Amino acid sequence: MLRNITLFLLMIFSFEASSQDSLIIRKIYTAALNEGQAYTFLSELTSRYPGRLSGSKAAAGAVEWAYERMKSLGFDTVYLQECMVPHWVRGNAEEAKVFAANSKTGKKVNICALGGSVATPSKGITADVVEVKSFDELNKAGRSLNGKIVFFNQVMDPTHVSTFDAYGGAVGARWAGAEAASQYGALAVVVRSMTLAHDDLPHTGVMSYGKATQKIPACAISTNDADDLSKQLKAGNPVTMFLKTNCETLPDEKSYNVIGEMRGDSKDVIVMGGHLDSWDNGAGAHDDGAGCVQSIEMLRLFKTLGIKPKHTIRAVLFMNEENGGRGGDKYAEEALRKKEKHIAAIESDAGGFSPRGFSMDAPVAVREKVKSWVPLLFPYGVYDFTREGGGADIEPLKEQGVPLFELSPDSQRYFDFHHTSADQLNAVNPRELALGAAAVASFVYLIDTYGL
Ligand SMILES: [Zn+2]
Repeated sequence: MLRNITLFLLMIFSFEASSQDSLIIRKIYTAALNEGQAYTFLSELTSRYPGRLSGSKAAAGAVEWAYERMKSLGFDTVYLQECMVPHWVRGNAEEAKVFAANSKTGKKVNICALGGSVATPSKGITADVVEVKSFDELNKAGRSLNGKIVFFNQVMDPTHVSTFDAYGGAVGARWAGAEAASQYGALAVVVRSMTLAHDDLPHTGVMSYGKATQKIPACAISTNDADDLSKQLKAGNPVTMFLKTNCETLPDEKSYNVIGEMRGDSKDVIVMGGHLDSWDNGAGAHDDGAGCVQSIEMLRLFKTLGIKPKHTIRAVLFMNEENGGRGGDKYAEEALRKKEKHIAAIESDAGGFSPRGFSMDAPVAVREKVKSWVPLLFPYGVYDFTREGGGADIEPLKEQGVPLFELSPDSQRYFDFHHTSADQLNAVNPRELALGAAAVASFVYLIDTYGL
């Protein structure tokens, strides 16, 4: 009998708790959709400071903007966290042409240097092209790649429903293609752009020379040009390529994570963030202006709705996710040094598209607790908690035992824009962006209310 009464009381309690929660979540969504500021913030950031690659003037401007913006919103504290960041610059001499057998004029192709690449000699590189589709093929070709330009034509597998899975299966070519090709004496590597789209946009992104003793230039080529090039090579005729870049790595620069917070009674922290840096060739609207403004908007919604957090809620705009991760490293280092206890870390770095759920990197009990909240979020289309993983900027907190989460938006269009000149404000839908901000604010609210 006693057991039954306890159960009954528990049911009443959980019903009241959840009806109170659904009211607050409804308020969060109403505010985000009625008079949300996320898109306005994104418009300010991308129009004033497009191409915020670490160490650039635009990145420095963006730090100032984010600091002033959060100050103007009246958060409890806004501060900068210093970190040294790499400073790679693209230069202004990117050019590539493909010469079919005996052709003197050649056809211009769309390329861009990969982040961290060395430049070609100033007169460029002209050499025969050899196509490989995998590291296996590359290793089999071995010394026959000596003196050649390696065309690494690994296609993203379109049968994956999540485009991030397709990306994960192919991006090794971009990251390590140059290292692999250089050991066989290749002169340069040209990697098929990491996208499922068929278009003329080259997609940049970070690469690494790993243990390579010889650093060779690395570029991305658009998928249309990659398909043409592959066709020509299949026809069996020799194809020559001319490649010219003048990118370089300058000394490290001083930069900052930008942090805003609202404080509760407990000093324990719930951190939510995106990365402020972005590739230089676009405006960094989806990647990751969206995550930055959703983080700011999350705090603003708490403030304007008068939701008093129990814990310290932080919005962190990390620096240098794209080509170094120094901001994320610094944040975790400082958390450890200051003995801050983090209850949860949440990232938004998968584009400003309609939110579908959150991925998790957390112990089973935490996952189960989070899944018990799904009925509260399901009415807003946020139901998918099946994906694995946090995000790159919060990953260093894992060592401190912090449960990690990342907003999972619909992924179908992300790689149409990712790391290209098309990643502009007009690629982001204001409602989808606002829904993402409401989703993270609701998720932070539930973690703050019930802990993990
Ligand atoms: Zn990103």
